[in-house]
Amino acid sequence: MTDARPRPRRYSVFAIAREAMRLHTGWTRAWADPTPKKRYQVVVVGAGGHGLATAYYLGKNHGITDVAIVEKGWLGGGNTGRNTTIIRSNYLQDPSAAIYDKSLKLYEDLSQDLNYNVMFSPRGLIMLAQTEHEVRGYKRTVYANHLQGVATEWIEPARVKELVPIINLDGPRYPVLGGLYQERGGTARHDAVAWGYARACSAMGMDIIQNCEVTGIDTASGAVTGIRTTRGEIGCDKLVLVAAGHSTVLADMAGFRLPIESMALQALVSEPIKPCMDVVVMANTVHGYLSQSDKGEMVIGGGTDGFVNYTQRGSWHHVEETVRALIETFPMISRLKMLRQWGGIVDMTGDRSPILSTTPVGNIFVNCGWGTGGFKAIPGSGWAMAELVAKGTPGPLAEAFGMNRFREGRFIDESVAAGVAH
Ligand SMILES: Cc1cc2nc3c(=O)[nH]c(=O)nc-3n(C[C@H](O)[C@H](O)[C@H](O)COP(=O)(O)OP(=O)(O)OC[C@H]3O[C@@H](n4cnc5c(N)ncnc54)[C@H](O)[C@@H]3O)c2cc1C
Repeated sequence: MTDARPRPRRYSVFAIAREAMRLHTGWTRAWADPTPKKRYQVVVVGAGGHGLATAYYLGKNHGITDVAIVEKGWLGGGNTGRNTTIIRSNYLQDPSAAIYDKSLKLYEDLSQDLNYNVMFSPRGLIMLAQTEHEVRGYKRTVYANHLQGVATEWIEPARVKELVPIINLDGPRYPVLGGLYQERGGTARHDAVAWGYARACSAMGMDIIQNCEVTGIDTASGAVTGIRTTRGEIGCDKLVLVAAGHSTVLADMAGFRLPIESMALQALVSEPIKPCMDVVVMANTVHGYLSQSDKGEMVIGGGTDGFVNYTQRGSWHHVEETVRALIETFPMISRLKMLRQWGGIVDMTGDRSPILSTTPVGNIFVNCGWGTGGFKAIPGSGWAMAELVAKGTPGPLAEAFGMNRFREGRFIDESVAAGVAH
């Protein structure tokens, strides 16, 4: 462990050339590994993408850098490092389109902003319509997106085939009837997003404290005073809970309840093959989605378990179900060997929209409920959450996502609109 904060060095073509000349002996650690201080202005629990992005924009947009990000494992080791990296902003409801499109715009120059290559790849994304119901649903989304200023289009089967030559349009059960296409959608490298934000936070003087599990939350007179952790007690003025599948566990520690169910979501990759698909395709009726990674693997995502659980691993029946579902539309994957499978614990709300909110306990804020689709939202969520934490009240991006909406019946229903929410 070292408390010495690495001197921030710009990554550039000149830095690579310089290091090549001196046999790469001059690279410094990307972020510090500090011992926790006794007290911080803000403590963020969870060093996933959303926690790190919240911290980053607290510093960048609001000048608050006395921040600790406390992580029970390693940074990015939760869902942020386990997802299938789909990025899109073609949501149906206005508040969703606003926050997801803000996020997509931030992704577009995130590598430059963080001086870290997050490998954002806007290769285009198609959501296949394979029933008449989906055709109507996606056309409605295209109309809604036009009103929201989000560029999406409805494409006919011939155009789908042009974009995805390996597709079988004439599946016996679910022929492809068209698709909702977002040309700006795509993927990014998930670890790099976490690492890029972590490096930038550390460079601003924030402490990222890994292997530090929060085991209790202390309050006095209805407001937070600090946390108890496996590395000692840490005081704070404000506490931000950003723990995805463990959000309810932390809320319990603080004495309030969250309308969240946690369950495993699984994914798998095939052996690497030559480039054959340069768009992301989601087949929501059969419930599977795939893209091809830079290494050539087909990255395949499935659905959530049908029951609440905290199982952070894959299972054979999911591999079989997901691949079986996709084979009708992508017959060539029947000949691929599957290489790895894994799972993450996702935090699901009833309306499949996130919670960015104040809580019944003073100065405790929550950012959770991103469920199966929060990777794409990391920059936008961090931006909106930082504003909420800094000012104490939500700005325009976050205001619809308060947890009171469940009590007041103001659902932001994306479950029917999206089918799968990735
Ligand atoms: C298989 C799979 C596929 C997915 N595919 C996509 C996709 O294609 N596109 C998309 O947009 N989204 C996708 N998602 C969803 C996306 O990954 C998540 O919504 C997003 O990563 C959530 O980020 P986060 O920062 O909120 O959570 P996480 O990255 O899970 O971070 C939360 C952190 O909190 C820490 N923590 C928990 N409890 C404590 C404690 N007591 N003390 C300290 N730390 C604690 C955890 O260790 C964890 O690191 C997928 C998810 C999975 C699992």
